[in-house]
Amino acid sequence: MADPRQRAWIEVNPSAIESNARTLIGLIGENCLLMAVVKADGYGHGAETVARAALKGGAHTLGVATLLEGIELRQKGFVCPILILGNLIDLEELRECLYWDLMPTISSKREASLCQQLAKECDRKFKLQLKLDTGMTRLGCDLLEAENLITELKEFKDIVLVGIYSHLALADGGFEGLSATVTQKQQKRFEKVLKTCLPNRENYCFHLANSAGTLRDSNLHYDMVRVGLALYGCSPFTHLTREFSLEPALAVKARVTFLREVPAGVGVSYGHSFVTKRPTRLAVIGIGYADGVSRALSGKISVLYMNNFLPQVGSITMDQMVIDVTDQVDIGLGSVVTLLGADKNKSISPKSWSDLAGTIPWEILCSFKNRLPRVLV
Ligand SMILES: *Cc1c(COP(=O)(O)O)cnc(C)c1O
Repeated sequence: MADPRQRAWIEVNPSAIESNARTLIGLIGENCLLMAVVKADGYGHGAETVARAALKGGAHTLGVATLLEGIELRQKGFVCPILILGNLIDLEELRECLYWDLMPTISSKREASLCQQLAKECDRKFKLQLKLDTGMTRLGCDLLEAENLITELKEFKDIVLVGIYSHLALADGGFEGLSATVTQKQQKRFEKVLKTCLPNRENYCFHLANSAGTLRDSNLHYDMVRVGLALYGCSPFTHLTREFSLEPALAVKARVTFLREVPAGVGVSYGHSFVTKRPTRLAVIGIGYADGVSRALSGKISVLYMNNFLPQVGSITMDQMVIDVTDQVDIGLGSVVTLLGADKNKSISPKSWSDLAGTIPWEILCSFKNRLPRVLV
């Protein structure tokens, strides 16, 4: 059980991550590698926990967003390939990157030259990956320059170009319409570059798919897939047209810290946005928006207790919120409710929250603050 001093916490299940990694590896087959994307502290689950579980489940590479995220993993003893997905711009950053044997992503000759300079200076080979912009319009070199850049990189004798990749902009949007058109267009552009590297693709590792790309179409898999959301047990698709047996790895729980009974007609919490319609038993739980439960969810969510959904009422406040427990006579002081995740055979998904809050499940998972301790289960 959780630390009794805590009024709310996050339970992380590493074996769910491990099992999701195995499921994904089963899906992508033998000739494709799995990169476990553990940026943003493993989407809020704890990067070290997630990385360990994913590697145990067969992941080959770890993906992080920043240099520091990569260094932290190395300091914790991870020796597998680690790719930094963000852009590093100055010599000192790249020097650290080389020192810690982290692969930077480069999008232009400018960074490649810095890498070559450093590699030569340190008398080491600098492994890196090249990013192409096939339609995301964020990082990545222009497609018109790609072929040239790949050729130029070969002249840099101390650089080892390990992989060439791109990123899908609309893969999570659905299986038809614009989402399908743009994804196809991106794939075509990617393949055009891939073909210039034939035969053997020059042994570069080609990768394009995020979770959505991985789940939607095996033709997007190539040599590796970069999976974040699905590794954590969430499907990126609005309409569950396909079932993937992925197991959610995170649950958010909180304790009842106060109980009260009020008559009908009483306003609850800031702004009195909720007014009781009947004599009501209310429970205060010790979790709020400063823990990462968006205030935009006020009055829209329910929590799980003993297989029942209990509605949250009134404004979610910084540290607390109120639930209506009139119909749940057995709930008492210290009772534990589930805000997100499974309880018995019911569950509440990040997707259901993100739909209510007008955001995406990725943001829900990344928003939990460190005030909530992570407990391994
Ligand atoms: C974050 C990220 C991913 C993982 O995306 P998911 O949708 O969570 O699977 C993959 N590739 C890149 C470049 C990323 O930045």
